[in-house]
Amino acid sequence: INLDPIYLQDMNNVIIGSIINIKDITEKVKLENMRTDFVANVSHELKTPLTSISGFVETLKLNENIDVATRNRFLGIIESESDRLKRLIDDILLLSFIEKNETKSLELVNIYEIFMEVYEMTDYFAKSKNINVSYKFSDQSISILSNRDYIKQIFLNLIDNAIKYTPENNNVYVEVYYDKNNLVIKVGDNGIGIPKEDINRIFERFYRVDKARSRDVGGTGLGLAIIKHIVKSLDGTINVKSELGQGSEFIITIPKKFP
Ligand code: ADP
Repeated sequence: INLDPIYLQDMNNVIIGSIINIKDITEKVKLENMRTDFVANVSHELKTPLTSISGFVETLKLNENIDVATRNRFLGIIESESDRLKRLIDDILLLSFIEKNETKSLELVNIYEIFMEVYEMTDYFAKSKNINVSYKFSDQSISILSNRDYIKQIFLNLIDNAIKYTPENNNVYVEVYYDKNNLVIKVGDNGIGIPKEDINRIFERFYRVDKARSRDVGGTGLGLAIIKHIVKSLDGTINVKSELGQGSEFIITIPKKFP
């Protein structure tokens, strides 16, 4: 609020009134704070792998006689931290792209076809943990006027998370159907679940229930924030039901738009 008054005076310079200009800038300040927080978070997230990379490079440079096994272990760490940096940068760029292009061009997309692409992409990861990914489509020809890349990203992030946060030898399921004029996508698992106090925050950028666990499984903390923005841009909704130690289910609805 700007409380600097402008005084109104009469011909004899006697103050006869004043004008106060009141402008609500709460939203602007909130947005500005969010932006500053995001930049601080991004810098921190990028700095962690970079510090590790430069530390190991320095150690390798200073110790010429390091044994082969140790050298290879250090190189392995440098490689995985570089991969992590790449994933982070890719996700940050994707998030800012979606934010800028909320009204993306729409095309008729076959949901089953896109899902199968993602199924194949995540198959190796699922098999490595002996997780069975089952799926049920009310109709394989379900098509929706939407954006192909966005739908693919939704499946990819949700299925990847379901596998990531589910212990070995368990199950992940995908269900797709129409409910009135909405396409419904459900992705569930019988994994570790999400504590009640965290459930409203998991869609925030870089929010993770367990930072160390997310890091170990290669998370960037941006997957659900990306989905939230995609769903918003498609005028849809996202909900989550979860029980700690029992599993989670993410439910997305996207309105069917007619050409
Ligand atoms: P991350 O890269 O850490 O997985 P996300 O934005 O995709 O980031 O998810 C945010 C957090 O939500 C995760 O760190 C995890 O704690 C929690 N989460 C997401 N999906 C699941 C799931 N299927 N089961 C349990 N926890 C989940």
